[in-house]
Amino acid sequence: MAAEIIEKKEFMVKPNLENYEQTYKNFKWDDVRGEIDWFEGGKLNVAYNAIDRHVKNYGDKIALFWIGADDSTKQYTFREISHLSNKFANVVRKLGVKKGDRIFIFLPRIPELYISFLGIVKTGAIAGTMFSAFGPSAIKDRLLDSGAKILITNSELKKRVYEVRNELPELEKIVVVDNAEKDEISYNDEMERASPEFDVERMSPDEYAFMLYTSGTTGKPKGVVHAHSAVIHEHITAKWVLDLHDDDIYWCTADPGWVTGISYNIIGPWSNRVSSVVYEGRFSPEKWYSILEKYNVTVWYTAPTAIRMLMSAGDELSKKYDLSSLRYMCSVGEPLNPEAIRWGMKVMGLPFHDNWWQTETGGILIANYPTMPIRLGSMGKPFPGITAGIVDEDGNPLPNGEEGNLAIIPGWPSMMKEIWKNPKKYGEYFKKEWYITGDRARRDNDGYFWFVGRADDVIKTAGERVGPFEVESILIEHPAIVEAGVIGKPDPLRGEIIKAFITLRKGFTPSPELEEDIKSFVKKKLAGHAYPREIEFRTNLPKTRSGKIMRRMLKAQELGLPIGDTSTLEDY
Ligand code: ATP
Ligand code: MG
Repeated sequence: MAAEIIEKKEFMVKPNLENYEQTYKNFKWDDVRGEIDWFEGGKLNVAYNAIDRHVKNYGDKIALFWIGADDSTKQYTFREISHLSNKFANVVRKLGVKKGDRIFIFLPRIPELYISFLGIVKTGAIAGTMFSAFGPSAIKDRLLDSGAKILITNSELKKRVYEVRNELPELEKIVVVDNAEKDEISYNDEMERASPEFDVERMSPDEYAFMLYTSGTTGKPKGVVHAHSAVIHEHITAKWVLDLHDDDIYWCTADPGWVTGISYNIIGPWSNRVSSVVYEGRFSPEKWYSILEKYNVTVWYTAPTAIRMLMSAGDELSKKYDLSSLRYMCSVGEPLNPEAIRWGMKVMGLPFHDNWWQTETGGILIANYPTMPIRLGSMGKPFPGITAGIVDEDGNPLPNGEEGNLAIIPGWPSMMKEIWKNPKKYGEYFKKEWYITGDRARRDNDGYFWFVGRADDVIKTAGERVGPFEVESILIEHPAIVEAGVIGKPDPLRGEIIKAFITLRKGFTPSPELEEDIKSFVKKKLAGHAYPREIEFRTNLPKTRSGKIMRRMLKAQELGLPIGDTSTLEDY
């Protein structure tokens, strides 16, 4: 099938990356070293690059427009964030923290989360993040595995920590940002006493800066550790992929409990000196549209699940808001269905630019760029400096057009340094000269990469391999469907059959007729064998906190097997 293409030729703002192909051909990582501020002896610090280096000439520029869950607002300049994070760095030092110690943050998206993250990183300690929605067992897993010494939380969330407090021998102190009680450290008191001056720790590029656990979509989350060199990659990808310019108002909807909320809500955009919007509250279509409108957001980075939810809220709603400030939109986290891109064109007049990466990769590796034609359904092409390939089980490259393991040649600056205290797991990522991503994909003759599915999720039916993504993408083109999760269900005759779990739009009800209609809809659009023989209607699909459909859970439930780690499961 010929790919549907969207090509943009005129730009209101000149893209930072003017010519992808040429840049890719000539690129060397050394060429972008100068984008970052270095200390003597080749040392650097992520937090210094994100914030402090802008203070001298741009101290009064707004770094953070913050909107609370209760709609209260605050704003902070780069100078204020610099001073506040310096203060917190002094607090951390006073608590006796050493380089390399782990300090975790368990907070909603409030300013203290961003300030403490930067403050920790300034001291040379390792900052860890967790979603504020995590329950006691998810908290325990992460704090125990990482051996965190200090936890920063609030009086509401700390209750969940105390449920497992006795099982965390290495946790020495709890800092509470609102009302600290006996034996706890008061954030406010300490911050008041602390100096706003701090001599930021000069770190070697390979020394650790932050860590977090993967989304848990395919199994138990892994503790991924990133070094200070990550800022090089996160800076240049924010500049070239997210196309951030000095006068942009940027909104990344990701929570820092997920890597996107660290790399592209804290490090990359601020390193590019951009004003960022953070919204503490939960998703609501009305609220999200009103933020885009009120803050005149120009660049928006979000995820397919959110886009699908906006789609299901209906186009009428979107028309009530003035979204004309938007000039560039990106998506990450899950495959981006072509239908979502078409919807963006219809409602915002702009396409979403899909990009692909992982917690382990620390930054964007495959992307659609402003000047490159978008092939709907493709993740785009490798970032300059990145060699991506499709390889077989033994790590041998496969020809264009063939499906295989998506693999990358190691050596980019934001590549994970280790899986925390688990060298065996880390080693499993590598085969021959490749880093194996665990995703299946194919590359076309023009170098575009197409996502097929997670390695565990690819379906083998009647001798054919089918990726859940292509089936799901067709399903959501059906007018009745909001969301679809597709699995392979063991079948004596066909090996596996395709089973689809579906949520319906408002106004539609499950019926055998609708089921038939959906089946024939897919049959018409995809190869005959690739339609779901079974359909189950659900009011919700199981998702991770970062909004990814947990197909392994659908499958386990279907087969009556243990459902495995559910620490990252969203309430559903
Ligand atoms: P776990 O590793 O714990 O199972 P996870 O892989 O979902 O969880 P993340 O690191 O947050 O954890 O997600 C990375 C994965 O998300 C990728 O490996 C890929 O499967 C998926 N992904 C991210 N971006 C895209 C994209 N643009 N298109 C398709 N898939 C994507
Ligand atoms: Mg993963």
